[in-house]
Amino acid sequence: MHHFHYRDNHMFCEDVPLLKIVENVGTPSYVYSHATLRHHFLTFQKAFEGVPHLICFSAKSNSNLAVLKLFAGLGSGLDIVSGGELFRGLQAGIPPERIVYSGVGKREDEIEYALQSGVLMFSIESFQELELINHCAGRLKKKAPIALRVNPDVDPKTHPYISTGLKEHKFGLDTKSVVEAYKSAAAFSHVEVIGVSYHIGSQVTEVAPFVDALHHVKELITTLESLGISISYLDLGGGLGITYDRESPPHPNEYGRAILEALGDSPCTLILEPGRVIVGNAGILVTRVLYTKRGETKDFVIVDAAMNDLVRPSLYKAYHAIEPVVRNEKDTIRADVVGPICESADFLAKDREIPHVEAGDLLAVMSAGAYGFTMSSNYNSRPRAPEVMVNQDQFYVVRERESYEDLIKGESIPPFL
Ligand SMILES: *Cc1c(COP(=O)(O)O)cnc(C)c1O
Repeated sequence: MHHFHYRDNHMFCEDVPLLKIVENVGTPSYVYSHATLRHHFLTFQKAFEGVPHLICFSAKSNSNLAVLKLFAGLGSGLDIVSGGELFRGLQAGIPPERIVYSGVGKREDEIEYALQSGVLMFSIESFQELELINHCAGRLKKKAPIALRVNPDVDPKTHPYISTGLKEHKFGLDTKSVVEAYKSAAAFSHVEVIGVSYHIGSQVTEVAPFVDALHHVKELITTLESLGISISYLDLGGGLGITYDRESPPHPNEYGRAILEALGDSPCTLILEPGRVIVGNAGILVTRVLYTKRGETKDFVIVDAAMNDLVRPSLYKAYHAIEPVVRNEKDTIRADVVGPICESADFLAKDREIPHVEAGDLLAVMSAGAYGFTMSSNYNSRPRAPEVMVNQDQFYVVRERESYEDLIKGESIPPFL
């Protein structure tokens, strides 16, 4: 469900024609729908109605300040994985007591920043990290609220790069080590054990792996209780998938029902860290066709957006639907849709049937709201695209296009040159 639709063959975001946005900000550009963002957040929220829970939106999926501010206003917390994301969250007005800090490689300065800010809890992913947090908290005369991240060893059946809960992955601690780590944590004087956390992967399109993981973690909680370690927060991570192509992931209601059923009677407050399912279909990347060319074996449509703007197709062979901004009656063509970057991996779609396009036409790369802008880079010295948020018949540039000056910001030429 989203608010990108056609009126008289012109694509609109809510009540704004994309042509009007492009006239103002050019291409390539990200466009987000306020109504879709809000709808998805509230739908997810509602799926957990009736049980104590906190939604900590996953900042890494889309960390624009305006997006975070919107969720803050709806009562969201934030799942962060770096000091930079903590800074963004605080700037956007997310209360620190609703922020959870995950990630395998937290630096000491980041840990201190989070301790000083008063985040809800740290998800600890290794024994050494536990020791470091205890040490930092001691120095600051604080007690660090922590959960240990357990690796439940379930296969989420998603792309290997976004699957995180198998034994071979770097995330969390295996079931055996985690119990030992909890015992140590309980004995440390500057940490306070308050939770258990896990996250099995991303773009998961079935409920079974979530349910399996929860059963597994419930057993762990029972073991911990028997050791006198009580758990008040159960952090299930994120991972619920969306429809990019023909996937039919569970609706948040179905996901919520399955989780609550598997959870049974539990005094824990649930923490949920959805990212993609909230923002994925709420954003698109608008791009202009620069050239078309006929190769010997295939056709190419060369557009002005590239892998530096949206890396998912190159990195994960991810599918993004490509729709015309202005529909025409012409036949479709089969082509690779590629960007200007000097890499063969620079494509947005391969061997795809798309509308017949010519140089100058506009295309919308759909479902680009999650892991789109946040994964963008300046590769090939391409200024990053602007981000626009539409609200009914208005639109706002929530991040302006980078300039050439921005590209060299902070660089300097040493005197010996
Ligand atoms: C990436 C991540 C999420 C969000 O995942 P989605 O698939 O976008 O829902 C949540 N929690 C943790 C710890 C993550 O690493």
